[in-house]
Amino acid sequence: MNEFDLVILGGGSGGYACALRGAQLGLSVVLIEQDKVGGTCLHRGCIPTKALLHAGEIADDTRHAAEFGVNAQFISIDMLAVNAYKDGVISKLHKGLQGLVKSRNITYVEGHGKLVSKNQIEVNGTVYTGKNIVLATGSYAKTLPGLEIDGTQIITSNEAMSMDYVPKKVIVLGGGVIGCEFASVWSSFGAEVTIIEGLPRLVALEDESSSKQLERAFRKRGIKFEVGVKFASATKGPEGVTVTLENGATHTADVLLVAVGRGPVSANLGYEEQGLTMDRGYLIVDNKCRTNVPGIWAVGDLIPTLQLAHVGFAEGILVAEEIAGLNPRPINYDGVPRVTYSEPEVASVGLTTAAAKERGYDVVELSYDLAGNGKANILKTAGSIKLVAQKNGPVLGVHMVGSRVGELLAEAQLIYNWEATADDVAPLIHAHPTLSEAMGEAHMALAGKPLHAHG
Ligand SMILES: Cc1cc2nc3c(=O)[nH]c(=O)nc-3n(C[C@H](O)[C@H](O)[C@H](O)COP(=O)(O)OP(=O)(O)OC[C@H]3O[C@@H](n4cnc5c(N)ncnc54)[C@H](O)[C@@H]3O)c2cc1C
Repeated sequence: MNEFDLVILGGGSGGYACALRGAQLGLSVVLIEQDKVGGTCLHRGCIPTKALLHAGEIADDTRHAAEFGVNAQFISIDMLAVNAYKDGVISKLHKGLQGLVKSRNITYVEGHGKLVSKNQIEVNGTVYTGKNIVLATGSYAKTLPGLEIDGTQIITSNEAMSMDYVPKKVIVLGGGVIGCEFASVWSSFGAEVTIIEGLPRLVALEDESSSKQLERAFRKRGIKFEVGVKFASATKGPEGVTVTLENGATHTADVLLVAVGRGPVSANLGYEEQGLTMDRGYLIVDNKCRTNVPGIWAVGDLIPTLQLAHVGFAEGILVAEEIAGLNPRPINYDGVPRVTYSEPEVASVGLTTAAAKERGYDVVELSYDLAGNGKANILKTAGSIKLVAQKNGPVLGVHMVGSRVGELLAEAQLIYNWEATADDVAPLIHAHPTLSEAMGEAHMALAGKPLHAHG
């Protein structure tokens, strides 16, 4: 019998998390995936990009080794070896995930699925019936009208992930998270990089102060960028790809990476036919990820929440727990940690200053410069931790720039999500010398008792 408590379409972060949690709660689960379990994050997203960034970090460390008294010489990047390292990481995690799915007795079906009724998905002529259907078909890399992806000179992150050479010159169209991460990788690998961003600043969803610091750091690294200017056209010629901007400026490079955002994978999958409410291709859900059709749920990049793997995990778990009757709390999306893993990293949780003011908070701000932190000096990184807080109230946002600051989000998200005040955090002792001390110092300063802070 092909009848299950949960029929899940798509085995990426959202779908597989739902399957694993559902099975753990005793639900019968079928997970349908047309490609590889793990989806974008494992095979074409989070994991491969972070492996490339780590290889880039080693290249930069080698170049700068003499500053630390170490004699080493940077010779070149061997992309075949970089890819072998990256693919090795993916393959190990993929095997682990396949093992997990198997060990939880989840029925795994390989193939392209389509919603054929309100409680059925068909895969290669076989119909799977579910008391509940969870749609988790994810997202794809978008492009702009008239800008055709050819996969070699004009590419998306899919191709950028496994190039077998380092281009001499690259144009990155889009200064969001994905664009900035690739700009960082290629610059570390020795390419000349120019970012084009239509919005007024890089990583425009972050606090303005974080964008400014990232821009300063990128300038220092020789990464060029033009912000607040729109793309007009791209032409291919013997010199490479030439991009013309609306202000008339042109840039030519070997490769153009199009990183202008991701759109939902929802076309031709039977979603409209079953009457699901959609907006620009996204499925619209309530705060428990229920669509407008009873028994059909949607999670991950397919719905208009933050396009992050850990958001997909959380939504998948939420749906499984709701179906199992645990009545979980809805997700507070402001409390989701966000990281751009470039060098330097940009990390945040909670509200930006602008958002806090827009919501009517009486806002106080404090910036702690990493120049006052011992470990930051040891690492030779610059940056800061900025706190946004309600006057005489809890911390509303934490915004960080610097090497490795993404790791500090573990504490920052507790502070935000537990609505801690500066006085709650200031007495907590942070190990010396760690970057996390800067988190303690920032809160001490906000509580009116700065220790290692000038001025
Ligand atoms: C370059 C890049 C870097 C990223 N870095 C990070 C990061 O560092 N941290 C982070 O949190 N997020 C990152 N992300 C985002 C993250 O990858 C996504 O948010 C996450 O993968 C979304 O999970 P999902 O399950 O919604 O979709 P996906 O992971 O896209 O999974 C959807 C799955 O559904 C399958 N599918 C689709 N249609 C069908 C069908 N009809 N039948 C069967 N199967 C189907 C697909 O094959 C796919 O495996 C990155 C993304 C990119 C592109």
